[in-house]
Amino acid sequence: MERGIGDEGAPGYLRIARELRARIKRGAYPERERMPTEAEFGEEFGASRITVRHALALLEREGLVRREPGRGTFATRRLVRDWSSRGRWACRSGWCSAFRYKTIENRNLRYRFGGGLRATLGSRFLRRLRDMGMFCHQCQEAAKGTGCTVRGVCGKDETVSNLQDVLLYALKGLSFVAAAARKAGVVDKSVGKKLYEGLFATITNANFDKDVFVSRIRDVIALREELAKKLAAKGGALPAKLPSAATLSAKTEAEMLDQWTAASFLSIENADVRALRSLVIFGLKGMAAYYEHAVNLGKTDPAQEEFMERALAATLDDAMDAAALTALVLETGKFGVDAMALLDGANTGAYGNPEPTTVQIGVRKNPAILISGHDLKDLEELLDQTQGTGVDVYTHGEMLPAHYYPAFKKYQNFAGNYGSAWWKQVEEFDSFNGPVLLTTNCLVPPKESYKARIFTTGEAGFPGCVHIADRKEGGKKDFSAIIELAKKCPAPKEIETGTIVGGFAHAAVEAVAPAVVDAVKKGAIKRFFVMAGCDGRMKSREYYTQFAEALPKDTVILTAGCAKYRYNKLNLGDIGGIPRVLDAGQCNDSYSLALTALKLKEVFAVADVNDLPISFNIAWYEQKAVIVLLALLYLGFKNIHLGPTLPAFLSPNVAKVLVDNFGIGGIGSVDDDVKMFMGA
Ligand code: SF4
Ligand code: SF4
Repeated sequence: MERGIGDEGAPGYLRIARELRARIKRGAYPERERMPTEAEFGEEFGASRITVRHALALLEREGLVRREPGRGTFATRRLVRDWSSRGRWACRSGWCSAFRYKTIENRNLRYRFGGGLRATLGSRFLRRLRDMGMFCHQCQEAAKGTGCTVRGVCGKDETVSNLQDVLLYALKGLSFVAAAARKAGVVDKSVGKKLYEGLFATITNANFDKDVFVSRIRDVIALREELAKKLAAKGGALPAKLPSAATLSAKTEAEMLDQWTAASFLSIENADVRALRSLVIFGLKGMAAYYEHAVNLGKTDPAQEEFMERALAATLDDAMDAAALTALVLETGKFGVDAMALLDGANTGAYGNPEPTTVQIGVRKNPAILISGHDLKDLEELLDQTQGTGVDVYTHGEMLPAHYYPAFKKYQNFAGNYGSAWWKQVEEFDSFNGPVLLTTNCLVPPKESYKARIFTTGEAGFPGCVHIADRKEGGKKDFSAIIELAKKCPAPKEIETGTIVGGFAHAAVEAVAPAVVDAVKKGAIKRFFVMAGCDGRMKSREYYTQFAEALPKDTVILTAGCAKYRYNKLNLGDIGGIPRVLDAGQCNDSYSLALTALKLKEVFAVADVNDLPISFNIAWYEQKAVIVLLALLYLGFKNIHLGPTLPAFLSPNVAKVLVDNFGIGGIGSVDDDVKMFMGA
């Protein structure tokens, strides 16, 4: 039997289940052939029939085998397991929605499942879909697990949603022309900036201001036309047949909205093409966000900007088949790794390597500003400008990890972290009392009670809230309006007291690697769980708190992103001084977790990172989590479990590719999942 690190001490039935699971995944037991009997397995493994029966029962719960009275035990297809055996999960998941799609399409349309890219939406159904006011399926909270069609669960209205689609369409058109011009030697450096800023602005919870999108669409069309003229002036020419996105013309908001039907994801009739292009585009959105943060710290990479251009142009290419689009999805993951590495270098280069840090979560008596989002440059300038003003600065949500950087520790008024994840802001911003600066996405439409205290900057925006203008070349942003308002506000109301600990990015973990390795070798640490990703408002996310609590005490959680708020205030203890929750930082610091895993692979001298005692149980919400997932897949990590539901934008065929090639799975009940992971 194969034995991996961490197998030692596992009950016999778990070790047998692990071996049989691996065999089933390899196809060792054909679906229609009876598997060996309990007695035969008992003889092979030197175990009692009861032990074998326990192992088979576990596999049956996972849906990997079915036992037929009088006939024996049979392996089932993993796809069947993942789609039908996890009742609670399946009915709420994107997989279920994918099935719903398939059902609808089967009923109304021609849809030859399993026949490659031959699924076709019929015109009557398509017209019905086009009659919707909006359609957005980019985040985990997509309505009914399929897409928001009336108003976003996030609060985005129809006009903003449709203008975002048209902006994306315009960006594709610009990319098409830029890629053609590039081939002729005409390169305009402003294209890259338009692309990453535009992509970032359309991320979930970033910008709710329709005027921003109208203005951006105008700018993108103007740049595309300018580029075409430059190409013509050099004697070049665009292809005779241009995609409609490359000829888009609209000056007013109404003209732009008229283009929505063509711009919508629903205009892509083939369900699999739509899913693969969605994966690429949503991955690009996440990548663009990380890239822009790096740019703000002076780091750029022309290759990444060129990829955004090439990939966006490719999403207009109807000649790209499933294989080509799948390759593009993986390439997006590769560039996602590059973007996260660039940002990691930018952050650590500017502010030092994160180090283990205790962060206060109570409050002081001074008036204060709350800063949220991911942009460390904004934080630095805010801290500089608040010196000597008597105003404290607290972090919220994804800004918490800023406390782990050495450079920010010199600021005496950097008081601590207030509250928790982004979705709790509606109550926490209210009680904070002072102004709040949103530097990136994760903005929930504000209540009137505190709306006048909300400031946005960068790609964030909300109508009626003051937007702090971008810094001019070589200059700084001006946060004086926020500071002046803070001085007039009462100090924050205390909502909790105590501390939390974080700062275990790759350099800090490398420093304690010998202790970690020792703990694993001595059996003090049995398994690591990467529980990175997002938090969200849905009740189903309570799973992650319960899962963290249910994990055996000899396991360690590696986290990054706002998912941590589900368990970082629990007292999960430590293992020989190593905290059981190691927080690497923001969601982009998932890159750190990948480096940590690769470091462990090196020190344990295993051939494949998937042989390490590491399980992935990741929560996702928006598009930055999509690029993190694609990056992990590109780096070779397999068997990642994603929850609380799988993406609504996956079609059955694309979901099957992810299951078959990468072992992607969902989540089930806490008890079953803990057993499954510990036995895996
Ligand atoms: S971002 Fe999410 S919640 Fe908002 S409209 Fe799109 S799918 Fe719905
Ligand atoms: S962890 Fe997820 S929800 Fe939180 S900021 Fe990152 S991508 Fe957004």
